[in-house]
Amino acid sequence: MNDGSGFDPESERQYLLQRVIAETRETGGTTGCPVLSRRVLEALAAVPRHYFVPAAQRDWAYADIPLPIGRGQTISQPFIVALMTELLAVGPDAVVLEVGTGSGYQTAVLARLVRWVYSMERIPELADAAARRLQELGYDNVTVGVGDGGQGWEEHAPFDGVIVTAAAAEIPPALVQHLKPGGRLVIPVGLPGRTQDLRLLSKDERGVMHSHSMLPVVFVPLIRDLA
Ligand code: SAH
Repeated sequence: MNDGSGFDPESERQYLLQRVIAETRETGGTTGCPVLSRRVLEALAAVPRHYFVPAAQRDWAYADIPLPIGRGQTISQPFIVALMTELLAVGPDAVVLEVGTGSGYQTAVLARLVRWVYSMERIPELADAAARRLQELGYDNVTVGVGDGGQGWEEHAPFDGVIVTAAAAEIPPALVQHLKPGGRLVIPVGLPGRTQDLRLLSKDERGVMHSHSMLPVVFVPLIRDLA
């Protein structure tokens, strides 16, 4: 549908999907994940990204790039959102922890795929705006919290999957502790201001962690507040 401004979210979203599919294929040799599952693609196609970016950025909402959302933070690149979601490999019954709600875009994609998303954001204004936006769009299986997500979310643990959308210098131990056996943790690891390493960690049934490097990425830093 066209709203008269020349901005047509439907066709923009189709274009974005094609870009994400192409980029997934191009990086497949490195990630080992050249194809996205149908359910992840459907979730990505269903989330209206223009609701999650500031009005001034709306023209770029369906470009496959990160965009500023205020407070020095960014909404992630859709290809990276799709890849991280795919790597998390969570089913409809899963309960997931997201660290770094930001705009709530990744949260919305996850909410379409799992039973419940707990999402922690340390900047109250961003958390409030994201929670309101998610509610307005009808996502009723999301809880947004304010605090240091690096400490996990003990009250709701353990999780089937944990996804961190900010770069951690080191993997926060609580996130590993709060993961179920068989669960996965997807996290960019490295220092801010340079390329980080997107890692997929899985916890086996004995509780032993296995780590794989997937792709060089660039994220804003995970900021650890003193407890
Ligand atoms: N998934 C988000 C990405 C937002 S950028 C989106 O697509 O919009 C990363 C976010 O992580 C920022 O909003 C930042 O404030 C938040 N963040 C940084 N350190 C954090 C921490 N320790 N706990 C929770 N959130 C944190």
